[in-house]
Amino acid sequence: MHHTDILIAGGGFAGLACAKSLAERGIAVTLLERKKAPGVGMHTTGIIVKECADEFAIPEHLTRKVTDVRLYAPSLRYIDLASPDYFFLTTDTPALMRHLSDEAAKAGAEILYDTPYESAGRQGESIRVNGTSSCRFLIGADGPRSRVADDFALGKNTQFLLGAEAEYEGLTLADGNAFCCFLDRRLAHGYLGWAIPGVGVAQVGLASRLPHKPDIDVFTARLGQVFDFSQAKVLARRGGLIPVGGLVNPFARGNVILLGDAAGIVSPLTAGGIHTALHYGTALGNAIAAHLHHGGTHPAQAMQRVYPRFRAKRILRTAYETLAPNWLLDAVLTNPLFTRLASDVFFKKKQLR
Ligand SMILES: Cc1cc2nc3c(=O)[nH]c(=O)nc-3n(C[C@H](O)[C@H](O)[C@H](O)COP(=O)(O)OP(=O)(O)OC[C@H]3O[C@@H](n4cnc5c(N)ncnc54)[C@H](O)[C@@H]3O)c2cc1C
Repeated sequence: MHHTDILIAGGGFAGLACAKSLAERGIAVTLLERKKAPGVGMHTTGIIVKECADEFAIPEHLTRKVTDVRLYAPSLRYIDLASPDYFFLTTDTPALMRHLSDEAAKAGAEILYDTPYESAGRQGESIRVNGTSSCRFLIGADGPRSRVADDFALGKNTQFLLGAEAEYEGLTLADGNAFCCFLDRRLAHGYLGWAIPGVGVAQVGLASRLPHKPDIDVFTARLGQVFDFSQAKVLARRGGLIPVGGLVNPFARGNVILLGDAAGIVSPLTAGGIHTALHYGTALGNAIAAHLHHGGTHPAQAMQRVYPRFRAKRILRTAYETLAPNWLLDAVLTNPLFTRLASDVFFKKKQLR
C-alpha cells in the first residue's frame, strides 16, 4: 500500500496549484490525473484576468495581452469599454498546463498521469484510494462532475453553462486588441458569445445556460457580419461545463475537501474559474500544511472562512437570465448606467462578490 499525506484527484489549475503549495511546504503529495499528459484535451478558453496575472507568475511568452472590451448588442451595435490599467491575458493553455505541472513536480509533488481516481473509502483515520493508496487528506479537484463528491456524499452543482469554442488561424478580428463580447439571449442564453485574439490564433466561442444549448455554427454565421472568415481555418474545437450555482454544500466532510470547479468556486457572473482555482488551490495547500505542521485550525474550517459565496454575482446572474430580452439589451446598450454596470463586471470584479 502506497501511503502519502495528501492525495489530490484532478490535475487542472486547482489540483496543480494545491500540489505545488503543499510540496513547497514539505508535505508528501500525490496527484492523480486521468489525462495521458498535461495540456491535452483542454476545455477552457484560458483567459486570465489581471488580478490572476498580478498574483501568479505566468510566463509572458505563453500569453497575449488584451486591453479593451468591445460589447455588442444583439443588433450588432457596439460600445467600447476600457479601464486605464486593466487587461486580460489570453494564453497558450496547453503549454501553461505543462508549465504548472512542471512547477508542481519541481517543488516535489508526485504527479501521476493516465491514472484516474476511481473510488475511495475511509479506513480508520486514513482514506484508502483506488484500493492501492492511502492518505490523510483527499482533495477533490476533479471538476464539476466530481467523483470524489459522489463517493463522500458532498454537494454538487446543478446549474451549468455549456461552453463551445473554436480556435482559428487566418481570422483577423476587427480590433486586434479587443475582447469582443456578444450579448444575444437567443444564441447565448444567460451568458454571451466571444471572439478574442489568442496566442497565434483567434478564439471564437459562446456559452448558454443549460438546458439551452450553444450552437457555435449559427453563432459563427452571425459573426460573418462582423469579421472576415474567408481565410479562416478551424485548428481546434473544445467545450465543457461551467458550474455557476456557487459554492456547493457541503464542500468538505472530515478530511475530504473539494476544490476548484468541484467546489463550485467559479464566478456565476463572468464564468471565470481559473483565478479562483489557482488562488484557493494555493490557499488550501497552505491551510493543510499549517494544520499538519502546527496543529490548529482544520483546513476545511479555514476554507469555510475564505471560500467565496458570490452572493451579489448570483443575484446579478438570475436578473440577467430572466430579465434581459434582446430588445432590452439593444435599447440599453448606450445607457450610461448600463455602461457603468458592464465596466464593473469586466474590470472591477472584486467589488461584485
Ligand atoms: C468552454 C469553457 C471556457 C472557459 N473559459 C474560461 C476563461 O477564459 N477564463 C476562466 O477563468 N475560466 C474559464 N472557464 C472555467 C475554467 O476553465 C475552470 O473554472 C477551471 O478550469 C477550473 O479548474 P479546476 O482545476 O477546478 O478544474 P479542471 O480544469 O476541469 O480540472 C479538473 C481535472 O480533473 C481531471 N479529472 C476529472 N475526473 C478525474 C478522475 N476521476 N481522476 C483523475 N482526474 C480526473 C480532469 O481530467 C481535469 O484535468 C471556462 C470553462 C469552460 C468549460
